[in-house]
Amino acid sequence: MGINRQFRLRSLLSASADWWHRITRTLPSGLPAPFFFTQDINAVHEYFSACYADMHSIPESTRLLNGHCYVCSTVVDFQVAPAGDGGVVNWRETLVCPRCQLINRWRGCLHLFEYFCEPGLQDRVYLTEMLSPVYQQLAGRFPRLSASEFLPPNELGSTVQTHAVPVRNEDVTQLTYHDCSFESVLCFDVLEHVADYRAALREFSRVLCSGGRLILSVPFSFRQETRIRAEVDGAGNIKHLVEPCYHGDPLSDEGVLSYYDFGMDLLHELQSAGFEETLLVCYYSGNWGYLGENIAYVARKS
Ligand SMILES: [Zn+2]
Repeated sequence: MGINRQFRLRSLLSASADWWHRITRTLPSGLPAPFFFTQDINAVHEYFSACYADMHSIPESTRLLNGHCYVCSTVVDFQVAPAGDGGVVNWRETLVCPRCQLINRWRGCLHLFEYFCEPGLQDRVYLTEMLSPVYQQLAGRFPRLSASEFLPPNELGSTVQTHAVPVRNEDVTQLTYHDCSFESVLCFDVLEHVADYRAALREFSRVLCSGGRLILSVPFSFRQETRIRAEVDGAGNIKHLVEPCYHGDPLSDEGVLSYYDFGMDLLHELQSAGFEETLLVCYYSGNWGYLGENIAYVARKS
């Protein structure tokens, strides 16, 4: 990491002195946060190459992994789902904490949120999901949390009874929130399902306060360019460019189509949308239960 990048990172991560006290979480001493920030695709490959040696020591038949759950602030045995097709474990979507029930990427994203956004308990936080355990965790912690699901054809901004709970309906490409409504926006594995993702980035920027921070987790292409998996033509028809990929969806049985595997070029798209400092985050840690190649994007509004 070059000197210039270190300076950028320092300003990006500049903390008010007492934020750890404000989040009231007890962290183990000697277990540093595992996040590596970069704008360089070669650095991403170097980072994960260094992790492979450790990964190879963990057999695909592993069912329990002892580690520290950031969300629960305690040591647990993370539960590993059996390997899927090809005998490969999808580490990102498993390693369930038996206490908070959160999988690897959710625990990692909440850890990153508190590390990067340094939220105060009275911060206004927007989460682009509501029917998930991650919402339950944040709602119990941040009383000014706002969250939503996409529930067409209901009126945007309205509350819709869904799965027996009231859920706010929002389209991330045309949010009904006022400008400067939030200190943080969290969007976990949603953007790849939004054909016009650039509109969503502009909306996230609009609803954030000056200096507000965004955390995005998405599938990563592991290259400079975003891989477009499918696109929508002028008539609204979907054209598949590669084998269609559907992700699990709490609102439908058939799943939801993934349009993109994002690349490093998303950092530039974030800047075009009004974000000043944009970085890719790589993280891997057996101690925290973050096995596999975990990626997120962080950005700070100008
Ligand atoms: Zn936990």
